[in-house]
Amino acid sequence: MGARLVRGGRRGHAGAALSALPAPWWDGPPLLPEPDGRGPVDLVLLDRDGTLNVQVEGGYVTRPEELRLLPGAADAVGRLTAAGLTTVLVTNQRGVARGLMTAADLRAVHDRLRAGLAAAGGRLDAVAVCPHERGTCRCRKPRPGLFEEVLRRAPWAEPGRCVMLGDKPGDLAPAEGLGMRAEGVSPSRPLSGLVTDLLG
Ligand SMILES: [Mg+2]
Ligand SMILES: [Zn+2]
Repeated sequence: MGARLVRGGRRGHAGAALSALPAPWWDGPPLLPEPDGRGPVDLVLLDRDGTLNVQVEGGYVTRPEELRLLPGAADAVGRLTAAGLTTVLVTNQRGVARGLMTAADLRAVHDRLRAGLAAAGGRLDAVAVCPHERGTCRCRKPRPGLFEEVLRRAPWAEPGRCVMLGDKPGDLAPAEGLGMRAEGVSPSRPLSGLVTDLLG
């Protein structure tokens, strides 16, 4: 396999050291605080598009006004927060690498997302983003980098007591590969019902 051009004009290749790979973006405290009490799980990891908000088919949410929360999603996150659980968004946003949005655009979208969740008492304790092009990093789902990043920043969390909720096989497989639980979200199995099951 020949060398391929990666963003920024630097050349990478299949044998590149891990340290040479771009890191995920992390918006949250460097270390997630350990909750006082023990809930049913240590961490709830949430996919974004198709899980919390309507997926833009064949495109990306590049502006806040394009973000539409799925019915019941804000209430579901509100119940997680009320239960004292730590929630982390784990999302691929290749539109950044493709030049369709900037980091500031993505932050504005996430500010809108957080505001919509907050209206129902919901909070994202951190947001982990892969902004990279396919095949150039370790963090683009279904690779495990976003999940590893979350565990690094929550050393108190046991993988077996973490759950990933997402709408694609690529959300679930890497979580399971690290020993986490994973539950698929779909129109017939929306986030609200999964959260009800989780909270017992
Ligand atoms: Mg999704
Ligand atoms: Zn990445």
